Order: sequence, then structure tokens, then C-alpha cells
Amino acid sequence: MGNAGQEGAVTRLDVVVVGAGFGGMVAIYKFREMGLKIQGFEAGSDVGGVWYWNRYPGARVDLPSIDYSFGFSREVEQEWTWSEEFAAQPELLRYINFVADRLSLRPHIQFNTRVESAVWDEARQLWVVRTNQGQVFEATYCVMATGPLSVPTDPDIPGLKSFKGELLRAARWPHEPVQFAGKRVGIIGTGSTGIQIVQDIGPKSGELYVFQRTPSFSMPMRNRQLTPDFVAEVKRHYPALREAARNSPNGGLRPASTRAFFSVSKAQRESLLEDAWKQGGLAMLGTFSDLLFNAEANEQVAEFVRSKIDDVVKDPATAEKLKPRGYPIFARRPCLDSSYYETYNLPTVHLVDCLNEEKILEITETGVRTSQRHIELDMLILATGYDGLTGALLAFEVRGRDGHTVNEKWKHGAYSHLGLMMHGFPNLFMTTGPNGPAALANIIRISEHDVEWIGKLITHMAEHGHRTVEPSQKAEDDWMQLVQDLAKRTLVSQAKTWYVGANVKDKPLGLTLFTGGFPKYREYCALAAQDGYKPYLLA
Ligand code: NAP
Repeated sequence: MGNAGQEGAVTRLDVVVVGAGFGGMVAIYKFREMGLKIQGFEAGSDVGGVWYWNRYPGARVDLPSIDYSFGFSREVEQEWTWSEEFAAQPELLRYINFVADRLSLRPHIQFNTRVESAVWDEARQLWVVRTNQGQVFEATYCVMATGPLSVPTDPDIPGLKSFKGELLRAARWPHEPVQFAGKRVGIIGTGSTGIQIVQDIGPKSGELYVFQRTPSFSMPMRNRQLTPDFVAEVKRHYPALREAARNSPNGGLRPASTRAFFSVSKAQRESLLEDAWKQGGLAMLGTFSDLLFNAEANEQVAEFVRSKIDDVVKDPATAEKLKPRGYPIFARRPCLDSSYYETYNLPTVHLVDCLNEEKILEITETGVRTSQRHIELDMLILATGYDGLTGALLAFEVRGRDGHTVNEKWKHGAYSHLGLMMHGFPNLFMTTGPNGPAALANIIRISEHDVEWIGKLITHMAEHGHRTVEPSQKAEDDWMQLVQDLAKRTLVSQAKTWYVGANVKDKPLGLTLFTGGFPKYREYCALAAQDGYKPYLLA
């Protein structure tokens, strides 16, 4: 790109897009179609976001691939063929690369580049964006497609830096193959990521020590190869499937129910749960309508899932330790597995209960010291999660009107309007931002929706001669009140998760997700756009 953006050769753009994961790719495609001058930036060396970074063994999507894929391009839908119901990371990355090539997105993205600051210039009404390559860009609009899960967190355990063996992070997995055979491997973290790694490397490792603090609820994925007939049928019906997904509460093709748990007999409930268990995937979540609202119903489903662990894990003491207790099922992201619990029947796989039995005291040069013993390790894997929803925007300097930063604005918790914009940050947009449905609905449907909405607003501004837009303080306050009121009704608030910021030291606690369902969210966004964008200050 020659001297684009170098100091003294500032590049003037319509839109800067930060991030080339799903959200960034949709944004770049859409804004190019609108004829805008765009530039995307991506820290990784290629497209893919979370699927670029998370190359860990066993990485796999937990939504059906046909649903977890772009719906904005008929060509892509027809030309790409998924092989499995739940695609593994290599196939997902091939798909993302296919999309980038097919739609010629790559020329608009500068890779290996971090945006170091985005500063609003009030006098000139534009964003000044600086990169770690020493470049400067100026843009009317800034779109942060930085993703809800892009900043991994290390565990707060003394001695981490002293470990002299192989230290691997799930979210920054090496591109080269990793050998486990004959090695003493430890893994910290048993969320969606840890579970996928354990079931994959358990049989491959010399010894595997799983350091579990909070057990997760995991259900059978029951993955399958997709037949040519099934794929052909899906391709014929993609538009209707996308529409159905958009109109479902979770923005996806997942089962949903209007049946309350206690509205049917005990025998019927058990039969429905058994059916869902056999069906696999997230079918359990769709058996009853009130599982996230009725604590008693939730506990009965939790007990059903716990009982399934006894059916698989041979050692009763290990089975007991694996049973999640003390928080509602589905309040953490429910995990899907193929052989997670079976893995604990291997004599070489050891569960270390670091919540009730042996707390991790420190990481040493050669392993992990618990309150009971020292466990010698050749390799330590961290699957300890992310600074979710807000981490990415807090990780660099984003400075809005009057020099105020996002860090200052979010000091007491993420504050936004519709998860799309913030008062005090004119012409700055987020895709899948905090206080939208982010983690609770299909992230690709949300990204497409958000970009579509942003595109319409930009068009509206061009048509009406506006140069700046931001939500009014009142609009933002009203939205946050609604998000908080809805959060009080759901059991999702009751677990210590990244959804509520409980996994990051000193992070303000609170559920920064819109829990009213994706169709309602879309309605609110459409309403905000009605009658000339009333909740917005347009100038
Ligand atoms: P996570 O759900 O936040 O789990 C992190 C794990 O690390 C937890 O078990 C946590 O225990 C543990 N941990 C953190 N610090 C620790 C410490 N000091 N000592 C011991 N244990 C510690 O993170 P994740 O598994 O990476 O998943 C994050 C999200 O990514 C998921 O919720 C999901 O949305 C997404 N994801 C999706 C897929 C998929 O599509 N299949 C796969 C992977 C991830 P505590 O709970 O006790 O803190």
C-alpha cells in the first residue's frame, strides 16, 4: 500500500474497520458495496478473528455450521459446502478464507497491524487512527469489529512466568503442530475451550492433569457428517432458514419452546429431556420456555444433566467432582462434547479439583503446586478465558469528544446505546458490542444486522447532509435501564462468568447483555431508526 498512512502522508477514508473476523468482514463487504472508501486493520496475519487465533486441538463450533455462516452473499451460500453439522476449526478457517477470496475482501485489509489509538478530532469532525506501523489514517466513521472474545486472560496465579516447560495458550495456539505423546500435560480451565481440548488431547498425552475450578455443564454434541441430499436441501432453502434464524430468540436455528417446565407431567418432562439428550446439540436448551427464569425448573434440568455424568464416568468420586453445582444450568455457556466425560475413564487422565480439594498455590519452574502436592509437568495449557465484551476496546486508546476515553466511560461498567454506539463518541460504531445480544445469540446474525443498521444510518446522514451522529445521553440511559431491568429477570446473571465480568480482577460486575431476545433487539434498533433517528444527536 505504498506510503499509505505514513506520517506526513495521512490517508483520508470514509470508514476505518478494526478487526477482520466475521464482523469486520461483513462490514468491509457492505461498506465497499455502498461505495465508501474503507480500510480494515487486523492484528493477525490473516482473516478469521477468533477462528484464526483459536487453533487449539479439538476447536469446533457449537452451533450448526449451516447456521454459523454468512447469509449476506447468495454466491457464498451456494458455492460453499459444509461437511459436518458442527464444523471443526480448520474447516471454519477454510470457509472464512474462501469468503475473503470469493468476495475479494483481502485487498481492503492491512494484516499484522494493531490500531494503537483512535482519537476524535472535534474541529475537523473525523477520527484520527494510528497503527503500530506508524501510520495515520483519518476517517469519517470508525467501526470497531473487535469481537466479544478477542482478549485472552491469563490466570491470576503466582509464578506463571517462571514455568520452564512448554506454555501454551488456547487463544494464541501455535501454527505449528504440537506433540503430546509421552508428555506430562496440565490444563487450567474447564469452560467450552478446556472441555474441547481435554477430550482431544486426553488420549494423546502421556499423562493429562485437568485443573478444574468450576465444572461446566456439558451435553452431547452428536456431530454428524452432512449428506449431499441434506446440503442440497439446505442450499435450496437458505433465505428461509436465515429468516427463521433472525426471528428466533437466539438468532439461530435452534429448537425453542413455548412450553413451561411445570405445565406438563413429571413423566412427560423426563421423556422430553431424554429425547433432547438423544438429539444432542443445544436441544436441551429448547425443551422448555422458562429454564432461564424459573429456578426450580432449572435445577431439575441441571440434576438430569448431572445424573448423566454417573452413567459415563466409572469412578464415582471423579463423577461427583465433575458435577456442576451452585449455579443455574445455562447461566454459563453450555458446552457440547463428544467424549469429554469418557476421557476421565482413561488411567492417564487425572482430574484435579482445585475448588474443593487442592487449591492451586503457584506455578513453579517444573509444574503446578497445589495445597496437597507438586504436579510435575512438561507442558501447561491455559484455557482460562477472555476479558469478554469490553476487553478489546479497553486495550487501546479510544478517545471521544472532549478527550474522554472509553476506559473512563466504562469505569463502572460498559455503557452503550443498543450495543452499537456510545454518547460522547460521535461516528463510532461497534458490532456485537456490550449491551447488545452478543454472547446470547448467533454472532454472525448479529454482525450482519449491526452492519446493515450502521450502513442505513450512514446513508441517512449522507442524504440529509449530516456529518456527525451519536446517541443522546437520555437514549443511552433509557437503553441501559432496559438492559439492567431485563437482566434482573434472568438466571444468566447468577453465575460468575465472563458474561457478568466476574472472571477479570477489578472488572465492574453486571450482565452487559441484552437478554430480551434477538427479534426484540432488532425491533428496538429499527425503532431507533424510525422518524429520522430521534434518539440521536445529528449535526
Ligand atoms: P471460560 O468459559 O471463561 O472458561 C475459563 C475457565 O478457566 C473456567 O473454567 C475458569 O474457572 C478457569 N480459570 C480461570 N482462571 C483460573 C484460575 N486462576 N484457576 C483455575 N481455573 C481458572 O472461557 P472459554 O472456555 O475460553 O470459553 C469462553 C467462551 O468462548 C465460551 O463461553 C463460548 O462463548 C466461547 N467458546 C465457544 C466454543 C465453541 O463454539 N465450541 C469453544 C470455545 C469457546 P472459573 O469458572 O472457576 O473461573
